[in-house]
Amino acid sequence: MGISRILIANRGEIALRIHRAAHEMGIETVAVHSTADADAMHVRLADHAICIGPPSATDSYLNQAAIISAAEISGADAIHPGYGFLSENAQFAEIVETHDIKWIGPKPEHIRTMGDKVEAKRTAGALGLPLVPGSDGAISSIEEAAEVAEQIGYPVLVKAASGGGGRGMKVIPTAADLASAVAQAKSEAKAAFGDDTVYLEKYLGNPRHIEFQVFGDGNGNAVHLGERDCSLQRRHQKVLEEAPSPVLSQEERQRMGSIVAKAMAEMGYRGAGTIEFLWENGEFYFIEMNTRLQVEHPVTEAITGVDLVREQIRIADGKPLSVQQDEIEFKGHAIECRINAEDPFNFIPSPGLVTTYHAAGGMHVRVDSGLYAGYRIPPYYDSMIAKLIVYGRTREGCIMRLRRALEEMVIEGVKTSIPLHEALLNEPDILDGNYSIKWLEEWLGEREA
Ligand code: ADP
Repeated sequence: MGISRILIANRGEIALRIHRAAHEMGIETVAVHSTADADAMHVRLADHAICIGPPSATDSYLNQAAIISAAEISGADAIHPGYGFLSENAQFAEIVETHDIKWIGPKPEHIRTMGDKVEAKRTAGALGLPLVPGSDGAISSIEEAAEVAEQIGYPVLVKAASGGGGRGMKVIPTAADLASAVAQAKSEAKAAFGDDTVYLEKYLGNPRHIEFQVFGDGNGNAVHLGERDCSLQRRHQKVLEEAPSPVLSQEERQRMGSIVAKAMAEMGYRGAGTIEFLWENGEFYFIEMNTRLQVEHPVTEAITGVDLVREQIRIADGKPLSVQQDEIEFKGHAIECRINAEDPFNFIPSPGLVTTYHAAGGMHVRVDSGLYAGYRIPPYYDSMIAKLIVYGRTREGCIMRLRRALEEMVIEGVKTSIPLHEALLNEPDILDGNYSIKWLEEWLGEREA
């Protein structure tokens, strides 16, 4: 018997995204929600809804016991964790599986391996992925650190093995800064992640962030769905993403794509995953793997026509991949703008009542959002309230359509990042695709000056 009722252990646009894929497959959905989200769209649309706790995510969306109970009470036979929250918690994935509930995600051991950055790098290296030059695993002494840093050349980066979300890393400009930086990084990592393991990496000066979408069936078959360029970042948070990357040729895409697909096949990877690389002067350097669906997955859907959530559900249900590598074609161009409830230029959060809401529409325009007029955006969670994804046959056409779609979007009552996106789409560097991971912060700095 296949999956017939999915509990969605998330909120906001991604909960809706999963609900939509499930209903299109004839599968019922169970929403879980905190008391702050009782009126949320994901709760309204689901077939069943269960309150799992107070506003604080620790007590609700991260409350494993409450979520498992909700699954048992509602008779859900599968759990989709979305992104964030429990999506990369290997222990939770194991608990779900022990309860005879299907986990719509990778094998717990792969979540665990990739969640530890030292282990992830070791595994990626063994699978033949190109790495950022650095220490061979954790650094055990300052002497060792100094030796490695001398070898790879300054500046170097010290990173926490358990770090995440851009936290737990520090640039070390010269040898004189090494000892104090490593000591400080260790104590900060201990405080933030309960683990003071750190490692060293060459600090790349001006790279792009290019990531590959992969999919495995868990039995040794895997495909890649091309790359996404997510170089436009602020404080390591992605702002706008596009596919394909403006700097990759079809040959480079195929070459790198087959390397990552082969690695996933060898690993026996199951479900959706993203392999993140920094890219500089034509070279790829693995930084990490995310063992879940990503916020920016729709740009891949737009250029390949593959429904990634449907694919995740099928694989969790023991079905084969619905597409073979040679059936996956990359057509046209897609860009996603993350729309946050915050000041567009100083980024101060702006939760509250949405008085007016009108989503953009028209050909090749997709809005993933749980917003509606009269909705009160709670202050407790991530500030992303909508994603606008636009497709065009060419990058230029896509940008023209995206500008038009941004003009059409109306969100009143709270501040949003729409004006930031509009400003970015008038910048020659963005129009030319000529930007690295440093670009946005430099641009914001110049605006302020
Ligand atoms: P996290 O898990 O915290 O997101 P990542 O390893 O993915 O950590 O790195 C986050 C971001 O930090 C990257 O997108 C990139 O902007 C920057 N970064 C990471 N490693 C390097 C490096 N070796 N050189 C330069 N920048 C880096």
